[in-house]
Amino acid sequence: MIFIKTDEELRQMKDSNMLVSKTLAEVAKNIRAGVTTNELDRIAEEFIRDHHGEPAFLGYNGFPKTLCTSVNSEVVHGIPSNYALRDGDIISVDCGVKLKGFYGDSAYTFEVGLVAEHVRALLKTTRESLFKGIEKTIEGKRLGDISHAIQHHAEKAGYTVVREMVGHGLGKNLHEEPEVPNYGKRGTGIKLKYGIVLCLEPMVNLGSRFIQQDEDGWTIRTRDNQPSAHFELAVAVGKEEPIVLSTFEYIDEVVQKNLL
Ligand code: MG
Ligand code: MG
Repeated sequence: MIFIKTDEELRQMKDSNMLVSKTLAEVAKNIRAGVTTNELDRIAEEFIRDHHGEPAFLGYNGFPKTLCTSVNSEVVHGIPSNYALRDGDIISVDCGVKLKGFYGDSAYTFEVGLVAEHVRALLKTTRESLFKGIEKTIEGKRLGDISHAIQHHAEKAGYTVVREMVGHGLGKNLHEEPEVPNYGKRGTGIKLKYGIVLCLEPMVNLGSRFIQQDEDGWTIRTRDNQPSAHFELAVAVGKEEPIVLSTFEYIDEVVQKNLL
């Protein structure tokens, strides 16, 4: 069943999603060649607990860490480890928190040092495709309008969209109905109603769309070993405009500063 959130619940979800957004910015401050994904995980867990939240992924279906860190050809669900980031890597950092009973969930793909231009273009398009989906998160539109907007933007740039992994509803549960595929047809699927909260999270590949799972039972990677990008925000269906509950604003500030 799909839960419709009250305005009070949306306010609470704004708080949990802002905590996720700020946690990702804290991670952003520490993205550099040489840092291990375990170190990023520790920084995120400490930041979440310092702000009275709980890491949402830790222990979820047995997941062992606070963050999912997915490097280069890893799409999602990478497990933080002693891997030290290298110049030229890209890393998707996915973070979930629980704050006063409500979940927040967002992801961002960071560049480590100097990243190849064609890979930077993949990141840019993936982020744009997320916002194309957000534009459709309005009452009266249908779920397929979101899915189609994401797919269309990614594919017209020559990339492929992962189909097996999807976005989802968010609320008092980390994953709620409905599923939000990153591909689909306009005018199909459920009608969007004010107060439905969705996590839109395009996973876009440079090469083919096909994926496989590592033997660790978690890490999803591209079958052709080419890079994949992933961006996620939580959005409530609004009456005239989407209500975006999480933000990349804090991350962008950090990334801008690092470039100066
Ligand atoms: Mg999610
Ligand atoms: Mg996520």
